[in-house]
Amino acid sequence: MKITLVKHLNKIKRYWIALLSITLLLPILGISDLHSAIDDNSDRIQNNEKKILAVFAHPDDETIVGPMLAKYVREGVDVTIVTATDGRFGVTEWSGFSAGDDLADARRREMQCAADALGANLYHLTYEDQFKAAEGFDGFIAQSRGFLDDLHEIMEEVQPDVVITFGADGFSNHIDHRIAGVTTTQVLLSKEWDKQPALFYAGTPSSLLDDNWKYQGTEDQYLTVRVPYEMEDLMVAKEAALCHATQFQPEFIEMWFERMQERSNTIYLRPFEAPKHSSDDLFSYPDQY
Ligand SMILES: [Zn+2]
Repeated sequence: MKITLVKHLNKIKRYWIALLSITLLLPILGISDLHSAIDDNSDRIQNNEKKILAVFAHPDDETIVGPMLAKYVREGVDVTIVTATDGRFGVTEWSGFSAGDDLADARRREMQCAADALGANLYHLTYEDQFKAAEGFDGFIAQSRGFLDDLHEIMEEVQPDVVITFGADGFSNHIDHRIAGVTTTQVLLSKEWDKQPALFYAGTPSSLLDDNWKYQGTEDQYLTVRVPYEMEDLMVAKEAALCHATQFQPEFIEMWFERMQERSNTIYLRPFEAPKHSSDDLFSYPDQY
């Protein structure tokens, strides 16, 4: 399996800094503060047993849910990002890179920088941006099949409680995003896992988009999971987004930063719901909506 798992040190570092701070503060804290410090820590230990796996297509896609990932890392959840492709075709006017290996190398470094900033583990796979679609059947099928195999292995290894990926809209309709979403869904539905994770699709409420972007939204009623985050989480996500210097200019990040606040500092997700009824007839199946 062509996977490199980079176990970051950031989270461990933050944990020890937090622990050290608590230890240093103990002598000046009252007994009730001591109790709350212990309670906070036990919450943290409890959350430490929880794991999120976030599966995306390109280095920078994780920005979409960045503040939410930062929030859960802050709360002690073990967060792992899977980035499927190398981003070799992400050419921008300002980066000075043309498409190819050098850009792929730069984006690999950027992705590591972003994962470190978020405090997440990273599996950065080696598939090509666009999954070699230009090479036709032989290129594309081998790449997408490999991604499927790798994701199975990663699921076995990580044993996540929660999986997050793209929905049918692929956020921006990008075909790689859709491949990441369907591959993740396929892997989860393919068998009964020892620990069956909850699956969520990140989405943008259609009500927030005008007609030009209408195919990029998900009707609000389906986005029933709405996770608020704090400004400090948005700041961490901004730091992570700035790592992607070949993709985002600082002015764009500022715009994104404002927009996230306008959207109530909330990440919207559609939960995957397993069928709860059976039927022997298409028209007598209980109401789906
Ligand atoms: Zn992307």
